[in-house]
Amino acid sequence: MPKVAPAPTSARPTPAPARTGLRHVFPVRADNVAYHPTHSVYPGTDIFADCGEPVVAVTDGQILEVSRVDRFDKRGPLGPYNGGLSVSLLGDDGVRYYGSHLSAIADGIDAGVRVRAGQQLGRLGRTGNANNVCHLHFGLSPKCRGTGDWWIRRGVVWPARYLDSWRKRGNREPAAEVAAWQRVHGCPKAPASTNGASVG
Ligand SMILES: [Zn+2]
Repeated sequence: MPKVAPAPTSARPTPAPARTGLRHVFPVRADNVAYHPTHSVYPGTDIFADCGEPVVAVTDGQILEVSRVDRFDKRGPLGPYNGGLSVSLLGDDGVRYYGSHLSAIADGIDAGVRVRAGQQLGRLGRTGNANNVCHLHFGLSPKCRGTGDWWIRRGVVWPARYLDSWRKRGNREPAAEVAAWQRVHGCPKAPASTNGASVG
């Protein structure tokens, strides 16, 4: 009897297919918000609003990582703890949404938990290196390691034009731009020097 060749297997895990057409909402639920299209040092956006305003999930997805303790110390190390209290969410669109400097994390928001677009994740604050001004640092990135990769998690593509859309109840989707960034850059290692330059 001829032997039957084993079915080909792939060593690479198949990523969950990213979904398109998901609803996207502005990450701070407040009437008075302000943000600037640029950011110091790397792509991201600082969204200013009153302390305590709700921070919400941009889209449906799963919580990847939560920091409930402010470990920032200006003597260093600079980088890993700049965000203070923070939440990162892997959207079902394949984009990682990161928000930091929160004053509080909502009950039940823990790694692995599913959330829906608009669900409250916490409250706007000034933890980490927020320089005593309440704002949400908002970053878009691919998942990469998923935890601890702060130099990617903080943001790799510019969020402002997406924020502009969501603010007007539009639904511009960042997945294609984030995927394009990852095709070019992969998941870079931590920068050799984290001194000084990193702004949370
Ligand atoms: Zn920032």
